[in-house]
Amino acid sequence: MLGGSVLWFRHGLRLHDNPALHRALEDKNQPFFPVFIFDGETAGTKVVGYNRMRYLLEALEDLDNQFKKHGGRLLMIKGKPDIIFRRLWEEFGIRKICFEQDCEPVWRPRDDAVKAVCREVGMACCEFVSHTLWEPDTVIRVNGGIPPLTYQMFLHTVSTIGDPPRPVADVDLRSVNFGVLPERFYSEFTVFNKVPKPEDLGVCPEEADMRMIRWVGGETTALRQMQQRLSVEYATFCRGSYMPTHGSPDLLGPPISLSPALRFGCLSVRKFYWALQDLFNQVHQGRIPATQLVTGQLIWREYFYTMSVNNPNYGQMAGNPICLDIPWKNPEGDELKRWKEGRTGFPFIDAAMRQLRSEGWLHHALRNTVASFLTRGTLWLSWEHGLEHFLKYLLDADWSVCAGNWMWVSSSAFEALLDSSECACPVLLGRRLEPSGEYVRRYVPELARMPDNYIYEPWKAPIEVQERAKCIIGRDYPAPVVDHVEASQRNRNALKELRRILEKAPPHCCPSSEDEIRQFMWLGDDAQSDISSY
Ligand code: FAD
Ligand code: MG
Repeated sequence: MLGGSVLWFRHGLRLHDNPALHRALEDKNQPFFPVFIFDGETAGTKVVGYNRMRYLLEALEDLDNQFKKHGGRLLMIKGKPDIIFRRLWEEFGIRKICFEQDCEPVWRPRDDAVKAVCREVGMACCEFVSHTLWEPDTVIRVNGGIPPLTYQMFLHTVSTIGDPPRPVADVDLRSVNFGVLPERFYSEFTVFNKVPKPEDLGVCPEEADMRMIRWVGGETTALRQMQQRLSVEYATFCRGSYMPTHGSPDLLGPPISLSPALRFGCLSVRKFYWALQDLFNQVHQGRIPATQLVTGQLIWREYFYTMSVNNPNYGQMAGNPICLDIPWKNPEGDELKRWKEGRTGFPFIDAAMRQLRSEGWLHHALRNTVASFLTRGTLWLSWEHGLEHFLKYLLDADWSVCAGNWMWVSSSAFEALLDSSECACPVLLGRRLEPSGEYVRRYVPELARMPDNYIYEPWKAPIEVQERAKCIIGRDYPAPVVDHVEASQRNRNALKELRRILEKAPPHCCPSSEDEIRQFMWLGDDAQSDISSY
């Protein structure tokens, strides 16, 4: 028996800040097997659109290339993790399996099955917390056994725990003894000799490619993007501000966001967190303390993970203790389909929904807008429909984070929002966020010639204007799926009524303050008029 160790990649698709890699390479004489397993679920591959699948495969290719520089490769195998690890143990007498913790409850059966094999055959199972800044279980324990109900309580709890750990050092891959799979494995399993294409895994593009922005997956790109992002942050800190993507969102420029890289772990959240904190301190020389505000958005990510760890029903209404039972209506006719396909007749909504499907990306302000439109703002359909759609198409789709945000925006888990009975108006919001109309023209080419003053409400354009724009509403571009003014009035009343009923509800998650709502929705102070009803 040779012995050896396995590094099992699931999320955490990187070599930097990788404590599991450190443990796996403690003894470099032992064979080392870096493995990714296509089990049909891991890394969000169960229901996945083309863009995210490609992003994942590019991340694997990047790891493969990095290992190849040192004479190894990433072993990519199709099958069930517990079965594959048992076979590796039979062949090599593997001594330990090392991996990064996936804290979400959906992964528990997969990980429990592997842990059971490890116990049975005597392999060490080494799990490390490095996908989150703090271990969710620790946060829950310190908070007295339940997750902190509000973001403020969460901040308080983690400040009791103390600063998150700094990233661990890089590992030297020179003289690593890479293990080689025996021939038998190639007949027992599908082993990929090179990284497959999405098509090889049955995931194909759905429509003509109209991508404007092409995201590239992998650690190498993620680290470069972080450096670019830090120079943007630097300029923002020097101006005495923070969180550069929020104030005046750029819907047209290349995104400077790192959420897909963080979601797959191509970038370590600890590395990004500490880079921001250190940069802020460097700029302000300790004159202004680097509070959590600098990294506030990363804390939302932690908050949503922590809320979900012990709640397997977090992604649905039924049996979900933190979700309010809002009586959403069932979809009527093709309204849900029209929302998904970007054919609601509201150009701002449709542009966003088409960008989501073609690029896998949406700016946060647009996520809020389309989510509010589907739920409490206009259509009054359950957030579960939206979650399902987002989880398929978003590059950064992350079950806990996505469900948490959907509950937030739809007022389902944070009842204080019901107080603000206003709804985001797709016309006014569009005008404020993107006055040029270029965003709509880019993703809804039917409206390319519509004049600026009608671009967000083309149904109001006189017929001669429609003719000149070569876009007849109802023929070339749909008429509005509903009357937004009527719908938002009806919803406002429904929320008021709910509010009355809920007054006696037991304590549950809710925003800590009005300020927090504004911050979460990324609304500047001047935005009051846009969230008020239209
Ligand atoms: P920054 O402001 O630069 O924040 C840095 C990081 O903090 C982000 O990369 C992300 O990891 C995290 N973050 C930022 N905002 C939030 C937030 N509201 N909640 C939790 N974490 C946050 N984000 C995801 O990563 N995955 C999702 O599946 C997801 N689904 C969403 C669904 C809806 C309905 C809404 C309204 C938001 C969703 N978000 C999701 C949150 C947010 O839109 C993205 O994280 C953000 O757009 C990423 O841009 P950024 O990197 O520039 O953010
Ligand atoms: Mg941003």
